[in-house]
Amino acid sequence: MTAYDSNNIFAKILRGEIPCTKVYEDEHTLAFMDIMPQADGHTLVIPKKPSTMLLDADASVFAPLFASVQKVARAVKAGMNADGITITQFNGPAAGQTVFHLHVHIIPRWEGVALRKHAGQMEQADVLKAHAEKIKEAL
Ligand code: 5GP
Repeated sequence: MTAYDSNNIFAKILRGEIPCTKVYEDEHTLAFMDIMPQADGHTLVIPKKPSTMLLDADASVFAPLFASVQKVARAVKAGMNADGITITQFNGPAAGQTVFHLHVHIIPRWEGVALRKHAGQMEQADVLKAHAEKIKEAL
């Protein structure tokens, strides 16, 4: 298992060293907009406690993490007026993981609308902000 690198991008977001479009935060977790969304409203939830992925996480992170995933997923569905929600979580480069701090993807879905490419195209900051506002209003 790869060692945790405290300079990964999500660790920097947690320390406030780089900005993010925040949706929700509590003692154990942070939720913010994915910068390369696979669908409008694509949100990430991360535990504050460091681990590279689910496989090396302390099991104590899962209850607060998935409580936040449920809370934020409900708000994403309502705020984005989605038909459904896809939840994904990748472990290791072979599985498609690109950032090595445990995170859960919350991706709104609409009937007949295909997902965009994973970590494909950067979204405009004002678009991410507008989506975050809708989600925050629904929290
Ligand atoms: P992974 O491939 O590791 O499951 O997902 C990492 C996700 O983080 C990707 O969906 C990618 O678009 C997103 N991402 C990468 N860099 C940044 C960043 O600097 N800020 C934000 N908000 N998302 C990022």
